[in-house]
Amino acid sequence: MFLPKLREVTEALKSLFSPAYTSKFPFKPYVAPEEYRGYPKYYEEDCIGCGTCAQVCPTNAIEITDDLTTGIRKLVLDYTSCSQCGQCEEKCITGEGIKLSSEYVLSTPDLKAPEVFETVEKELAICESCGKAFACHAHLLFVKERLGAKAYAHPNLLIESQRQFTDLKLSAVKDRIRREDIIKMMCPTCRHKTVVADEF
Ligand code: SF4
Ligand code: SF4
Repeated sequence: MFLPKLREVTEALKSLFSPAYTSKFPFKPYVAPEEYRGYPKYYEEDCIGCGTCAQVCPTNAIEITDDLTTGIRKLVLDYTSCSQCGQCEEKCITGEGIKLSSEYVLSTPDLKAPEVFETVEKELAICESCGKAFACHAHLLFVKERLGAKAYAHPNLLIESQRQFTDLKLSAVKDRIRREDIIKMMCPTCRHKTVVADEF
């Protein structure tokens, strides 16, 4: 009986003179360890707007909206739905477009407050035939750079690389597909129709 008590007293004395195990949060900011999985953040320059992060998100925390009037795709991540699982970071096709931060504090009574959302915007690639959005320009550029010289075999990628160096204006949407439309920015469906129209 006596020995265990002596051990407990020794431990109590040791703890008294050793640094605290607990932090002073919220009175003093606490820096999370490097491995901590905090709220994800977009990196605009490395995100190509492909939408993979939204597709793999198990809680549907990321919403994609394509605005054809402004030509902008918006990805909005709602932190109130995010479980910080890290799937978006792991599956991001550039590997750098979204990353978990070390941020963990999200305390607000207003669920619509700006700090609850993380947003990134990318320019849409719009089909010159049907007028629908089929990708983002940054995504086409990403594919073009990955393919190297082989990219010039595809009209969309050829146009995308021209856009880098010239102020290339896309033509207005026409009423029907013509043979000349093959060399245009087109969605896969319209390109298929154009090739068939050209062949027959
Ligand atoms: S961390 Fe998980 S839950 Fe949060 S946005 Fe990414 S995939 Fe969705
Ligand atoms: S590049 Fe990465 S962060 Fe951007 S939309 Fe695609 S998967 Fe999401």
